[in-house]
Amino acid sequence: MRPLIVKLGGSVITDKRRPFVVKRAALRRLARELAAAKGPLVIVHGGGSFGHPVASKYGIAEGYKNKNQLMGLSLTHRAMERLNANVIEALQKAGLPAIAVQPSACVVVSGGRIQSMELAPVKKLLELGLIPVLYGDAVPDISRGMSILSGDQIVAYLAGELKASRVILGVDVDGVHMANPKKDKSAILIRKITPADEELIASLGAAEEKDVTGGMENKVRELLALANRGVEAEIVNATKPGVLKRAVQGERGLGTVVVGR
Ligand code: ADP
Repeated sequence: MRPLIVKLGGSVITDKRRPFVVKRAALRRLARELAAAKGPLVIVHGGGSFGHPVASKYGIAEGYKNKNQLMGLSLTHRAMERLNANVIEALQKAGLPAIAVQPSACVVVSGGRIQSMELAPVKKLLELGLIPVLYGDAVPDISRGMSILSGDQIVAYLAGELKASRVILGVDVDGVHMANPKKDKSAILIRKITPADEELIASLGAAEEKDVTGGMENKVRELLALANRGVEAEIVNATKPGVLKRAVQGERGLGTVVVGR
């Protein structure tokens, strides 16, 4: 039972310029597009303007340093729960039996990386035909006290452990480009990335300003590690109506494919 794993980027479902604003119409449309998927499905979403501003205000990603951060972790998690509730409700309205799975309660993280995760409930939900929905979260960290766990890392971990049939990351650009396409309109789209493209990947990071966990280089690195475990992934533009639907129906080559050697 190899599930399809789809990530809805924070930049797709929230307005990144305005704190705590959901892009409701986009979310409704994406929920309907996801309903076209056949077979087991896991959904992960990012934080966008819900998680990132609170997390950075309290320096959660830098680890535990002072008591104020306890409230910061609590508030960051709550902000993500609020976004998650919006996602779950949109999926339910599209007829999908979605159920939230809270990462901070079932993932063991050390140094910002997932060490293990309690997967039995997720597997059972999938077997029953439910759709587990996870999200980037503020989490306890065995070595640093606290961390921000990105949706991208959750996607890659789950896809490896559950032997996903495929991973689709929905973002707000057409895929990975030679430069940030938001700044350079002439940036060329890269159709395929393999582990041999190390130089190219390193150049992506140099060109971008990231929020706590985001950025294209991080996404590509997570997906390449996954490709080496035999799971292919594709980064597509989920802001363009119909693209995610075609991707979940099995179409390839809509954005940037990340595959193993
Ligand atoms: P999300 O929040 O949707 O997971 P991010 O905002 O972290 O996604 O990353 C997507 C963003 O990465 C795009 O909106 C784009 O502006 C930026 N970006 C930076 N460099 C690149 C690149 N080389 N190719 C594509 N997008 C890039």
